[in-house]
Amino acid sequence: MSTATGRHFLQIPGPSNTPLPVLAAIAKPTIDHRGPEFRDLALDVLTRVRTVFGSAEPVVIYPASGTGAWEAALVNTLSPGDLVLMAETGWFATLWQRMATKLGLETEFLATDWRRGAPADAIEARLREDKGHRIKAVAVVHNETSTGCVTDIAAVRRALDRASHPALLLVDTISSLASIEYRHDEWGVDVTVAGSQKGLMLPPGLSFNAVSQKARKAAETARLPRSFWDWEDMIAINAKGFFPYTPSTNLLQGLKVALDLLEGEGWPAVFARHQRAGEATRRAVRHWGFEVQCADPTAESPVLTAVRLPEGHSADRFRQIVLERSNMSLGNGLGPLADRVFRIGHLGDFHDGLVAGVIAAVELGLTQAGIPHQSGGIQAALASLAGNAGPVAS
Ligand SMILES: *Cc1c(COP(=O)(O)O)cnc(C)c1O
Repeated sequence: MSTATGRHFLQIPGPSNTPLPVLAAIAKPTIDHRGPEFRDLALDVLTRVRTVFGSAEPVVIYPASGTGAWEAALVNTLSPGDLVLMAETGWFATLWQRMATKLGLETEFLATDWRRGAPADAIEARLREDKGHRIKAVAVVHNETSTGCVTDIAAVRRALDRASHPALLLVDTISSLASIEYRHDEWGVDVTVAGSQKGLMLPPGLSFNAVSQKARKAAETARLPRSFWDWEDMIAINAKGFFPYTPSTNLLQGLKVALDLLEGEGWPAVFARHQRAGEATRRAVRHWGFEVQCADPTAESPVLTAVRLPEGHSADRFRQIVLERSNMSLGNGLGPLADRVFRIGHLGDFHDGLVAGVIAAVELGLTQAGIPHQSGGIQAALASLAGNAGPVAS
């Protein structure tokens, strides 16, 4: 039996905490997905969600986790044996690459040390070599949730442009959308993949493809089998406010309220709040004497911080102690980072005080776990939060 007391702190980098008004909207009675109330809801969220992607083009919403939207991006645009250029930024990039292979695509996987974003220079060099345009798509992860490193998507776009290469650009924003500024149209992204349970503050269960005209054109001749994921079936009937199969009606009710909350706060404030949290968390980590997994200061994530514990200390044992003593869930290390790092999520529904509470609980846990560190990380974080918060409204 659990003896946990106090409110649970869900500080993994997704799923993130869901605000009470969103939970209340999801708990409303299920409605007729072919009726007028649903039509009004669908037309509203399908239109407003485009702004979140920075796109004027259609956004397709699936009743699926982010993995489904990964598959949708590939099967709508590519044919068996097509070559996809990907970058091994971490665990999620690896899973997407494995999926591409399973679907019958060929991949080239540019290696990194899992401590930086996708290398735009190497992408450009590889595209320049590809005179015959065998590479049909470049696929990268915007915020690599296993490492806490962000890829500069505008730089990847420039790599394609400088190489004058016609490949499609596919981007996974599952853990960045609505937390880090993103511009699907301006950056010339062809398919943007996203999910509901991270920056959008919903429970898991919705995922998204924002789709360019070039991507829809590619879909006309793409031959990978697809049915459930087919964009055109969706887009055609979405225009009338309906879906080709039963959508997640209650999650869409929640999405409407989540968009109300985020738009009410204002996108610049939302992005600044995440940056402030990332900065404060890294200050604390460095004060404790630890390294963050991201080794490129220009790529540090506003969404999560992956913390490298000193050699000989188990990150999983540490997380267990924090869960038992402070009722707080921290993210585990993934793939080769298992037990080496723990991840602090600072995304979705939070404020400066919650960030401070999380850092305090981590520092407490370090003492309780007997992991040597310099105390006072929490003070460093508080100073950072106070310094970055701007003047208090009078
Ligand atoms: C969470 C995540 C995924 C996987 O999404 P699911 O909803 O678990 O299927 C993929 N990519 C990134 C970057 C993620 O953070």
